[in-house]
Amino acid sequence: MASPFSPNPEIKYTKIFINNEWHDSVSGKTFPTFNPATGEKICDIAEGDKADVEIAVEAAKKAFKKGSVWRTTNASQRGRLLNKLADLMERDIDYLASLESLDNGKPVRVAKSADITLSIACLRYFAGWADKIHGKTIPVDGPYMTYTRHEPIGVCGQIIPWNFPILMASWKWAPAIACGNVVVMKPAEQTPLTALYLCSLVVEAGFPPGVVNVVPGYGPTAGAAVARHPDIDKVAFTGSTEVGKIIMAAAGETNLKKVTLELGGKSPHIIFDDADIDEAVKNAHEGLFANHGQNCCAGSRVYVQDTVYDEFVAKSAALAEKRVVGDPFTNVQQGPQIDQEQFNKIMGLIESGKEQGATLKCGGKRFGTQGFFVEPTVFADVKDDMRIAREEIFGPVMQILKFSTIDEVIERANDTQYGLAAGVHTKDMKRALHVSNHIRAGSVWINTYDYVTAQTPFGGYKMSGIGRELGPYALEHYTEVKTVTVALDSKAAK
Ligand code: NAD
Repeated sequence: MASPFSPNPEIKYTKIFINNEWHDSVSGKTFPTFNPATGEKICDIAEGDKADVEIAVEAAKKAFKKGSVWRTTNASQRGRLLNKLADLMERDIDYLASLESLDNGKPVRVAKSADITLSIACLRYFAGWADKIHGKTIPVDGPYMTYTRHEPIGVCGQIIPWNFPILMASWKWAPAIACGNVVVMKPAEQTPLTALYLCSLVVEAGFPPGVVNVVPGYGPTAGAAVARHPDIDKVAFTGSTEVGKIIMAAAGETNLKKVTLELGGKSPHIIFDDADIDEAVKNAHEGLFANHGQNCCAGSRVYVQDTVYDEFVAKSAALAEKRVVGDPFTNVQQGPQIDQEQFNKIMGLIESGKEQGATLKCGGKRFGTQGFFVEPTVFADVKDDMRIAREEIFGPVMQILKFSTIDEVIERANDTQYGLAAGVHTKDMKRALHVSNHIRAGSVWINTYDYVTAQTPFGGYKMSGIGRELGPYALEHYTEVKTVTVALDSKAAK
């Protein structure tokens, strides 16, 4: 059967999207986006900057004005629009997967079966919430009636990374729109293509102009303009902890806009000796190597109990060696890293692992001769203070550490600035729950890993972030709560 995917999908949209229309940048500048599998340029994209963000914010403000089409759209209609957008993504799923794979490098089958399928599920989940977002009536003392309203915040700035381009756009748009907000989004400069195509579906779905606006561009220019804009009421960011701090500071220096952050991690994955070892090896493998390790919740510190350590290391290295790497439009498990900068960072950390005395069990080198491929790499005998055990590598590099006791491993697992996710493998449920209760992380997976759904909250403790995305918890970050108190006739009140 012919493949439904195209390694050369037509590039239809390369401009800035404001008010349901396409615009060149005010400066006239463009920037290139590259195919990470070859390093070749795909096309040029209009380069948004402060002036373009200004125009997008004006459009969003107009769309959010009292009496506007959007403000008078019924909540149930907002849900229908989100479902319509999901329908259109379903219609175009093979094209979207091809575009995502070309721009990001992830295997096209994974782009379809995971990224875009989960994006559609996310839109549908929040579509269902649109007309179920409401306040309470609260019994207060005296002749008063008090109730709360959960109102949209207003203009939401959204800055997203390159590792899951469509999925991150969906996680950001869906709750914002369900709650009745308007959006100015900046996609990552490495992966603007699918976000721009989604904009064409926004128009086709029938969203009023100005509800969704997308300004591609670089972080320190377009991204910073979003973070600093005085008329943006909230900013939601996913990316590095370093830039998260910049976003937070910018909000503090300007209008104290609300901030939610989904940042990095160095997640522990703990394997006890009573676990099903083959299952644990498989889960630890996928938990780290999925998306080429470019995953904020990658289980990159694998703590294995001493009695099964050697067996686990041998099986993990054997599995990593079998991982199929190559052209993302063929039947592979792993494509290239996103760009030269990430490639260099990963190779530098691999070198540091070798220099600091970890044992390289497999991989450790560039794969192939072009693009940004890295061999699946496994390090054993890793110590807690090595750079590879402390820094987010964001690449296909697994660290396996040895532990003896439960208290020891909990303490070591928590000894990090991050707190995004963790995994524990054991057949003893009491032990699993004890570990789970004491790990300081936003998601804990027991005998599985990386199971993220639209229905469940996702976010980090400590420097892994602020707030939660997904699930009903996300709605709290896209609404303001208003308390309304009505004086009643004192006799009527009783
Ligand atoms: P980044 O944090 O620099 O970029 C993420 C987004 O923020 C992009 O859209 C970027 O343009 C924007 N940005 C950058 N500087 C900005 C600024 N000053 N103001 C406003 N926006 C700005 O991430 P990166 O450089 O692409 O990757 C670096 C590291 O970040 C990776 O190695 C990885 O450790 C981490 N990372 C984490 C995630 C995640 O999902 N948590 C995603 C991508 C990268």
